[in-house]
Amino acid sequence: MIASIKHFIKTFTLFELLQGLSITGKYFFKRKITIQYPEQKTPMSPRFRGHHALRRYPNGEERCIACRLCEAACPALAITIDSEERGDGSRRTTRYDIDMFKCIYCGFCEEACPVDAIVETHIFEYHFEERGEHVKTKEVLLAFGDKYEAEIAKHKEADAPYR
Ligand code: SF4
Ligand code: SF4
Repeated sequence: MIASIKHFIKTFTLFELLQGLSITGKYFFKRKITIQYPEQKTPMSPRFRGHHALRRYPNGEERCIACRLCEAACPALAITIDSEERGDGSRRTTRYDIDMFKCIYCGFCEEACPVDAIVETHIFEYHFEERGEHVKTKEVLLAFGDKYEAEIAKHKEADAPYR
């Protein structure tokens, strides 16, 4: 009986409607958080996992030593590596492909790499125009690394205290 009286009063006074409107009113004058993408961007974590890149050392030598740990760690089997021994006895990749259609951007490849060679950059706005472009080759990945090395190093440094 008491419950039905309560229900009647709530219905008659439009209590729930006013309750809802009070939430709207509360946020109506607050600072707006809508972002006008793509002109405006949200802050991004140094750990953001976007397009991959292969890095070099400052002397230009590629970091990757073809240990294939990233290939083994990749749960999506997105990485394909071939390697050979160079004249100086060091081992380097002759092929390093990442199939971006298979990749799930988990970051395991980056975690597995002992020399910080393969990394995921903050670049997330990219597209493919031709068939086959989804397979990123060693040349493409190295070019990405060359282009964004300063930002990659900055993000690595910012994240270092938490590792
Ligand atoms: S981010 Fe994950 S799925 Fe993508 S290549 Fe690296 S390990 Fe594989
Ligand atoms: S990118 Fe790193 S983990 Fe992958 S093969 Fe090269 S050195 Fe090994």
